[in-house]
Amino acid sequence: MPSSISNLLERAVVGDRLSADDALRILHNAELASLARAANAVTQRLHPEPYRTYNIDRNINYTNICTSGCRFCAFSRHAGDTDAYLISREDLFEKIRGTIDLGGNQILLQGGLHPGLDIEWYEQLFREIRENFPEINIHGLSPPEIYHIAQISGLPLATVIARLRDAGLGSLPGGGAEILVDRVRKKVSPCKVSSDGWLDVCRQWHRQGGRGTATMMFGHLETPAERIEHLERLRDLQDETSGFTAFICWTFQPGNTDLAGSPKIGAFGYLRMLAVSRLFLDNFQNLQASWVTQGLDTGQAALLFGANDMGSLMIEENVVAATGTKFRIDEEQLRRAITRAGFVPRRRNVFYHLVEPPGGDARPMNVS
Ligand code: SF4
Repeated sequence: MPSSISNLLERAVVGDRLSADDALRILHNAELASLARAANAVTQRLHPEPYRTYNIDRNINYTNICTSGCRFCAFSRHAGDTDAYLISREDLFEKIRGTIDLGGNQILLQGGLHPGLDIEWYEQLFREIRENFPEINIHGLSPPEIYHIAQISGLPLATVIARLRDAGLGSLPGGGAEILVDRVRKKVSPCKVSSDGWLDVCRQWHRQGGRGTATMMFGHLETPAERIEHLERLRDLQDETSGFTAFICWTFQPGNTDLAGSPKIGAFGYLRMLAVSRLFLDNFQNLQASWVTQGLDTGQAALLFGANDMGSLMIEENVVAATGTKFRIDEEQLRRAITRAGFVPRRRNVFYHLVEPPGGDARPMNVS
């Protein structure tokens, strides 16, 4: 006889691993309040500390020129479009200086799949950033970009990854995962790397000692079962490499995309999925809230639905903003949101080490 939903939730709370079928049953059937209690209990077990964390970085999109044509994207342009761009060094360095002035220690450097930029271009870029701003971590290039650079350069993935690391790539954001099920990818991003390819970039990055995040963008053409399949693929890879520092899920924003007019997932749907992710991803230490797509109130509620981190302040964000969804806040607002959820706000770096203002301490958090 199958376990009741409350039994499944109790098992997850004490650390028993859920199967994909268990997670799907919970996603479909659990009451929101019970789900929140269970996800929060898991978060409290993993993070009994009184604080919740956040980061300060800037999302710099070095180009919007892209050959991929993903149907959910409102950001990309063709090379000949009047508003297509490739950032100049001058603009890039000015943005990095501005990030440092605001207390940031990292840039999230991502762009489209540019048809003309090979490995040498990226190596040169990273070396110049490292020489001019040695204190800045380059959290950059999603797995699809790395896969694309390998193809453009005619080099094996492992070589590209080793060369990018040597040039200064510090950590790998898990963008471009969307849903790691090829049936869905063929519909929403047919020209982008496959599910196996996305996972293989992460695998090789982790094997070479790199760390990075995993993501999921949901609420477009996938089924609930495919969301769970996505989580299972991430959990399997994490069992293998332990290379993911955190998981972040967010909801698809249909504005200005080929899928405009599709229903948008609201706060409850987002919080439900976040909570199930917390129960299922038992080998992920950290889950981030997504206030960039959901707004700060829902982001704050996420701290009670499985998230232990508010993500980044994001001094600049362009990709979600291109869909018309724009939530902008300052550090004080972010800290206040954490406080009002009942926690002490603490800044961290990308590796989840606490970072205090100059003169303070930096103690490592409990990271797997
Ligand atoms: S999501 Fe990324 S890869 Fe897809 S079209 Fe937009 S910029 Fe290109």
